[in-house]
Amino acid sequence: MAYLELKGIEKFFGDLRAIKGIDLAINPGEFIVFVGPSGCGKSTLLRLIAGLEHIDGGRLMLDGRDITDLPSSKRDLAMVFQSYALYPHMSVFENMSFALKLAGVDPSVIKDKVERAAKILNLTQYLDRTPKALSGGQRQRVAIGRAIVRAPKVFLFDEPLSNLDAALRGQTRVEIAKLHRDLGATTIYVTHDQVEAMTLADRVVVLRDGVIEQVGTPLELYDKPANQFVAQFIGTPQ
Ligand code: ADP
Ligand code: MG
Repeated sequence: MAYLELKGIEKFFGDLRAIKGIDLAINPGEFIVFVGPSGCGKSTLLRLIAGLEHIDGGRLMLDGRDITDLPSSKRDLAMVFQSYALYPHMSVFENMSFALKLAGVDPSVIKDKVERAAKILNLTQYLDRTPKALSGGQRQRVAIGRAIVRAPKVFLFDEPLSNLDAALRGQTRVEIAKLHRDLGATTIYVTHDQVEAMTLADRVVVLRDGVIEQVGTPLELYDKPANQFVAQFIGTPQ
């Protein structure tokens, strides 16, 4: 059975039908990448899954449970945004532990979880620093760390690398792939960059104007693009 299932998902912004009846079944532990040109609905679809936008039609199932109307905080998902809004006055440790502290988790358990996440992300020696003292790549890793400590069932990434320079982007991409191998959590990753999509994904979902054009492994998309749009999008570096 699918772990995360989208059934006829719809989203309107006024008269704009931004998401048009999307069906998708995601397997447990899968790394799914949503790819497509700017404005095609990638972020909206991710935000609908995260519970940050109201779903106007269709149902969303997680592990056999209907979560369509569940508030974001109860969905057991963690989202990492493009603009990693860290708390500037807090240390890296405090940034990473904030959600757990709010949830009333025992301080010794928090310490253990944060230290383990920091180790995975190579942040151990930065735990006492504030974000100001970190590089862009390190800050993005703190944002990822904040998601990891919550041990969510599903990770959602919205263009997490787009504020990094090319070298850091490559490096962080490798780290995200490693993270997925280590944690094995179901992941949905949004990008407009097909190189990112093709290197990270188990399966790629190509979106255009709120519709899925094709779902397949990177190889399937290369070998058998469903139409001209997919062929052109996959074949033309952005
Ligand atoms: P992508 O992430 O693929 O670039 P988005 O999901 O951000 O695309 O946007 C999909 C469409 O929905 C676009 O036409 C965008 O202008 C529109 N849209 C997104 N968010 C809103 C909003 N809050 N209000 C009105 N229109 C929106
Ligand atoms: Mg977007």
